[in-house]
Amino acid sequence: MRIDVLTVLPGLFDCFLREGVIGRAISRGKVDVRVHNLRDFTTDKHRVVDDVPYGGGPGMVLKPEPIFKAYEELSSKGEKPYVILTEPWGEKFSQEMALELSRKPRLLIICGRYEGVDERVKEIVDKEVSIGDYVLTGGELPAIVIMDAVLRLVPGVLGNRESLSADSFSDRGLLGYPNYTRPSEFRGMKVPEVLLSGHHKRIERWRKEQSLRRTLKMRPEIIEKLKREGKLTEEELEILKEIEKEGGNPA
Ligand code: SAM
Repeated sequence: MRIDVLTVLPGLFDCFLREGVIGRAISRGKVDVRVHNLRDFTTDKHRVVDDVPYGGGPGMVLKPEPIFKAYEELSSKGEKPYVILTEPWGEKFSQEMALELSRKPRLLIICGRYEGVDERVKEIVDKEVSIGDYVLTGGELPAIVIMDAVLRLVPGVLGNRESLSADSFSDRGLLGYPNYTRPSEFRGMKVPEVLLSGHHKRIERWRKEQSLRRTLKMRPEIIEKLKREGKLTEEELEILKEIEKEGGNPA
């Protein structure tokens, strides 16, 4: 997969692209991420990327010309990229969207800044994406969030792909189960006995139950939706009945 990013602050991506799982995947050539400075697509002496808003008001707006020029140059060779524009009012980013995006061969992420981008840029945008109901100073952090969630789903990026299916939101939206590591007792807090038993079937059942308990407690609407859509197994419905019988707090 290839991702191009268009930004006025390319330096913000340095650490992200160098460190950890994503840094390793890039250096091993599993994914190709290219960050472009929007100023490199200007044609004037001062490399101006923004201007005042028509109609007046505070702040500056990113001009359309450099963005269109970058889009045209970057799309001129190979597969046309799927274009994302980061915006607070965009479609809310989710694991489901990350999965959908991870299947695209190419993405181009345009990072807004200042008051935002000239509305005419929407002409080349496939999806406006928000990472949450709050306003940041620019689209660089959203672009990093999107890339991190998308790239870890690309085959070859994570060492152990099995861990993906145990992630929250991956299995029909259910949340992940609790994890423990050594020591088996820490400051009087013990690891649940079942995890030390080596009994794979019991461990699997315990994890399923914990995942259901956590989802019921933190995101009950996910359980309701799965029930309505008939997406829970007999075993899961049985576990839920047992939890409901206990009454009180599901966790
Ligand atoms: N004037 C905009 C508004 O009415 O919401 C806010 C602009 S914001 C200061 C500058 C840029 O940051 C946006 O164009 C967008 O690219 C990015 N941005 C800010 N918050 C975001 C969020 N929650 N999700 C995605 N992008 C965001």
